[in-house]
Amino acid sequence: MRASKRIENLLAGGGDGWALFFRARQMVAEGQPVTELTIGEHDIRTDPSILAAMGRAAEAGHTGYSAIPGTDRLRDLVARRVSERTGVPTNRENVLIVPGGQSGLFAAHHATLDEGDTALFIDPYYATYPGTIRGVGARPLAVKALPEDGFQPRASAIAAVAAEAKTLLINSPNNPTGAVYTRQTLEGIAEVAKAHDLWVISDEVYDTQIWNGEHVSIRSLPGMDERTLVIGSMSKSHAMTGSRIGWIVGPEAIIGLLTTLSTHTTYGVAGFIQDAASFALEEGPKLEAEIAAPFARRRKIALDLLAQQNRIKAIPPDGAMYMMLDMRATGLSGETFANRLLDEELIAVMPGEIFGQAAAGHIRMALTIPDEAFGKAFERLLTFANAI
Ligand code: PMP
Repeated sequence: MRASKRIENLLAGGGDGWALFFRARQMVAEGQPVTELTIGEHDIRTDPSILAAMGRAAEAGHTGYSAIPGTDRLRDLVARRVSERTGVPTNRENVLIVPGGQSGLFAAHHATLDEGDTALFIDPYYATYPGTIRGVGARPLAVKALPEDGFQPRASAIAAVAAEAKTLLINSPNNPTGAVYTRQTLEGIAEVAKAHDLWVISDEVYDTQIWNGEHVSIRSLPGMDERTLVIGSMSKSHAMTGSRIGWIVGPEAIIGLLTTLSTHTTYGVAGFIQDAASFALEEGPKLEAEIAAPFARRRKIALDLLAQQNRIKAIPPDGAMYMMLDMRATGLSGETFANRLLDEELIAVMPGEIFGQAAAGHIRMALTIPDEAFGKAFERLLTFANAI
């Protein structure tokens, strides 16, 4: 029996780039002391107060089918959060609760693209983006953001291919580059989107992790709320990766259609998880700041160590929990460097190439282990790189 072409084509015949990650995990399973600076998973667990709220909700009986678009309480809290942070009037009808940002990305593309349509995304990109687009039967088309521009996309590069596209996926703060798109960058993108009648799918799952500058949601720019679907998540902001809880914010009509999609796919999100998320949002920005703080510290540790040498360069990340290092001075590809680093130093990082062609010759390091261990690992990485 053959599977559908759509699902067989999800990875377009290529790998999904996680080979090194799985190799590192295998080495750990075999007992090797590998330092993992790979995926965006916090080194802290979900806060005990959130877990207690989850337990209370489950024990109180919120374990049956839950409201498919999300509970009124959580939808209202998300709407209030988005209104306060962006100034765009947002209410419950603009919010769909989904099981994590990834499922929101899939649903948003499903809702805006027909079979064979072209969907733009910015390279370097979060590794699932092209597969998400292919998964809804559309054609992914990458627009490069260049290291020499600090990985800010150029509106002119998007405009050059916008005529053939229906959607544009952006991500700020950005994984993997740490770029936080400036207001000017976003205004340029918004003009192109309006001129070419594009939907913008704005992945803002790192919006609580800003180290420099400000987070601007493209939905808040003039004329953009009617064409923007914002993807949010509690994974990064509240260290709730395993709870699978996020949202899509957008125009009421398409949120209604997306709710019908949820009825036919996820059938909603567990009620006790939604109650835990509601509790967490009611705690306000203090908890979010506490969860984000370690990444800012490790970013500083890394930048201080980088300043002590001048061969390996980084564009200091303005947001998110990663740092991209430019390894081109070693003459190695990101992939070769990462594999050698794993074999010879037992340090696992992600090769830039899995995030797109614009990230070739780079590696991405996650700032996700305790400060002291992070500093030591990064020192070893730099010594190793400088000896090549
Ligand atoms: N977008 C980006 C840019 C991400 O890095 C991730 C997770 N690493 C996601 C979306 C999905 O996150 P989740 O499904 O856990 O909300």
